[in-house]
Amino acid sequence: MNSSEWSQFLGSRGFHMIDNQGFCIVDRYPVSVVLNGTTAVTSIVVRIQLAAALKKNYRKEIRELLKHKGVVSYMGTTLTLTVQAGHMQYPYEFTQTLVSLVNYLRTNSIQESIRCPICGRFETDGLAFYAGNFQRLHLSCIDQKLTTRHEQIEKNEMHGNYFTGLIGALLGGFCGILPSILTILGMERIFVILFALIPICIFYGYKVCRGKMNNAAVVITLVLSVFFLFFMNYMLLVFNVHNTYGLWLFSDCLQLFLEGDFFKELLSQSWTQILFLALGMLYSWRMITENNTKATTSIEFTRKTIHTADDPALVYKTFKSEE
Ligand SMILES: [Zn+2]
Repeated sequence: MNSSEWSQFLGSRGFHMIDNQGFCIVDRYPVSVVLNGTTAVTSIVVRIQLAAALKKNYRKEIRELLKHKGVVSYMGTTLTLTVQAGHMQYPYEFTQTLVSLVNYLRTNSIQESIRCPICGRFETDGLAFYAGNFQRLHLSCIDQKLTTRHEQIEKNEMHGNYFTGLIGALLGGFCGILPSILTILGMERIFVILFALIPICIFYGYKVCRGKMNNAAVVITLVLSVFFLFFMNYMLLVFNVHNTYGLWLFSDCLQLFLEGDFFKELLSQSWTQILFLALGMLYSWRMITENNTKATTSIEFTRKTIHTADDPALVYKTFKSEE
């Protein structure tokens, strides 16, 4: 089955489908699903936000219950069920699995999260996809949250500044290379993992100093990361020369540094540094690429998922003949 067939099937059961994601209330439990796969749906990921982390014996029983049907994992209070859709003959095999999981939760009095994730208070009156889960919350809280975020983006669009952002990125870069320089000079050891800090610090510097959050943030972070890697190596050369000869030879070191052979040798020696620098970039990739356009899209998406609590249109519909 392809994703439009799956969407149609889940839609007929009460799921509110938006692209490849769906939201539903199954037996009081707010449930979100993600359909994975390019043409045919290969797997379906279900998420339920619980009130508390599950005890070990419950986890064991759930694993037994869903043996050969799906894989359950936990991250804090979020329960995730992954079902392989490729092996299924009928789509209701999926909903059967989902319903059996929810039945287990209900019969064991395992409660869904009923506390608003934004203000922390109870007596919620709405539902929305927030912080990775479809969950109960206050309609006023989510509205305020999204409005504030939207205003921040508008403000950044209007008043974001490349110059202050660049200054921030440079300051961030200096902070980012400091731990590496200190450990290399002080302990005479290289912790390449610290190199991952360089892109992260540069990006935060750019962001904190109100740099405009568009593709320029990506370019500045990438270019300055490479620049600071070489700048750090240059500074280390200056310090080493000073330790050996007692002289600060900034321009001589720069000349030596820029000479082809020295540069090549450094490059061949510092590939692990570059590797960890790249890891840092990869790690901060989501933050780096989190620009205004994307943030606006995600706000619009969240808005679409807002429902009043126990909206009858969202309640899961059981087909007795199948389940
Ligand atoms: Zn609230």
